[in-house]
Amino acid sequence: MRYLKTAILLLFSLTLFACSDATGGTADTNFDERPIRVVTTIAQIADAGENIGGEHVVVESLMGPGSDPHLYAATESDTNRLSQADIIFYNGLDLEARMERVLRQLGQQKPVVAVGERVAQARLLDGEDEDEEFDPHIWFDVQLWMQAVEAVRDTLIEVNPERTAVYEANAAAYLAELAALHAYVEAEIGRIPPDRRVLITAHDAFRYFGRAYGLEVLGLQGISTEAEAGTADVQALANFIAENQIPAIFIETSVPDRNIEALQAAVASRGFQVEIGGELFSDAMGTPGTPEGTYIGMVRHNVDTIVGALLGE
Ligand SMILES: [Zn+2]
Repeated sequence: MRYLKTAILLLFSLTLFACSDATGGTADTNFDERPIRVVTTIAQIADAGENIGGEHVVVESLMGPGSDPHLYAATESDTNRLSQADIIFYNGLDLEARMERVLRQLGQQKPVVAVGERVAQARLLDGEDEDEEFDPHIWFDVQLWMQAVEAVRDTLIEVNPERTAVYEANAAAYLAELAALHAYVEAEIGRIPPDRRVLITAHDAFRYFGRAYGLEVLGLQGISTEAEAGTADVQALANFIAENQIPAIFIETSVPDRNIEALQAAVASRGFQVEIGGELFSDAMGTPGTPEGTYIGMVRHNVDTIVGALLGE
């Protein structure tokens, strides 16, 4: 079945390719006449595309609120949207493990850019097992994410050089907002006494956040949600929390709550009450139209939730 789908996709792509050749390709890529169609996997990248492309792009992200990119596989309608896109952005670094193959195939026909693979490799954290060379969760270090945003800008300029000045100006404005966001996160985390700067979540998404802003980070599951947390992990983490009297642990919107609840119960059986400090947006952003539906709003929500719970405010 998988091979059949691939064959159909390939045939469809070849047909598209042939069509654009037949029309000379110029009418089809005249972006004075129509906006650039941008499709992204995670919504964090779509947000960057909208901020930089403005009215000149139509941006869609495949993964909505609550989607887990580690486990996400393309649906039929996703395949159509990917085929019709002028540019495709994804995070890469094995985040979208189950879409990698289809994305690489599409990369033979159109710009398909893994923004995570455009950031300085020296700043990437290693993955935790052999399958993952690097930790993909780069958006948690705002300064590192700024490099991914620059990759979006540069790709728009490559595809539509006539509007270079527009994309550069929009990107500069957005990057300035992100620089301010970085300063906000540093200042807020700085309010937590150093011995209370411990962040415990459902999966290991926050290591870049911890490195950038000075928190110790522990996740119940590994870097990918594909591996289930074992009983030993729960017991070891429960011991740590009870011994160090960590005030709060956190749920993630894109990971089921049951593991964090099991952890809370294991801590309670050791005679210590740890609070659920709230819900963090880890791999997926919030609902479009709400503050958490933007990258900046998502980061601010996370920081405010973490600081509030660890300070007991
Ligand atoms: Zn993740």
